[in-house]
Amino acid sequence: MKKSLICVACPLGCPIEIEMENGEVISVTGNTCKRGDAYARTEITNPMRSLTTSVKVEGGVHPVVPVKSSAPIPKGKMFECMGVINQTSVKAPVKIGDVVIENILGLGVDIVATNCDSGK
Ligand code: SF4
Repeated sequence: MKKSLICVACPLGCPIEIEMENGEVISVTGNTCKRGDAYARTEITNPMRSLTTSVKVEGGVHPVVPVKSSAPIPKGKMFECMGVINQTSVKAPVKIGDVVIENILGLGVDIVATNCDSGK
């Protein structure tokens, strides 16, 4: 079975073909560099995504503060992570880089604030 994807590891966007057999990657072609090979293998076997969203703030100037994952997380865990994030709130003041949720779902990734809220 062959699968096609566009590498998004850099702006060049190389078209990549991946040959699979019994769930194993047999070959990766079309990539211009090793990053493309690594991207294709990860994307086909365990796709990862950065998560950006917002978390409720108690006593803040704004009702929510933007957050992101400190590293990409498995795409299949996105909804579960959002469930945890939606149940979370932080107390103002919040600073950029504050860890809002440590080691979410045990994935070794933190959810960190990407903006600040000094509070009312
Ligand atoms: S294969 Fe390499 S050069 Fe091509 S898009 Fe991916 S990272 Fe860029």
